[in-house]
Amino acid sequence: MNAIIDAVINRPDTVAYPFGELELPEGFRGAIVIDPEKCNGCGLCVRDCPTDGLKLEKRSRDEFKLIHYPARCAYCSQCEQSCPRDAIGHSNALVGATERPRELVVVLKEKNGSKG
Ligand code: SF4
Ligand code: SF4
Repeated sequence: MNAIIDAVINRPDTVAYPFGELELPEGFRGAIVIDPEKCNGCGLCVRDCPTDGLKLEKRSRDEFKLIHYPARCAYCSQCEQSCPRDAIGHSNALVGATERPRELVVVLKEKNGSKG
C-alpha cells in the first residue's frame, strides 16, 4: 500500500523515453566515434573486435576506409582499448533502431592520399 501511495505522490523512477528527455550517465557506451586526425588505419581495432563490427578497406597506407556496423556492435569498448592512438571510442549518444541495419553503417574515416 505504501508503495502505491509513494508512486502516486512521487515522480516515477523510470523515464518516458522516447517521449521525454533521456539523460544518459557519464561513461555510457554509446555510438562509436573517431578522431580522424589520430587514426592511421593500423587496423588493430578491427583485429580485436569480437563481433566483426568494424571493417578496414585498405588499398595503401594513405588510402583506406574504416567502417563501423552498429547493428553488429556489442558496445564492449574493446576497440577503444586496442587503439594505440586513442583515436576510437564511445560517444554518449544512443544509436537509433531500424529494420534496415545498413542504414546505420558509418564510415568513421576515409583517407584518399597523403592529406586525407
Ligand atoms: S565496441 Fe566492441 S563490438 Fe563494437 S566495434 Fe568496438 S570492439 Fe567491436
Ligand atoms: S581507430 Fe585506432 S586502432 Fe583503429 S585503425 Fe585507427 S588508429 Fe588503428
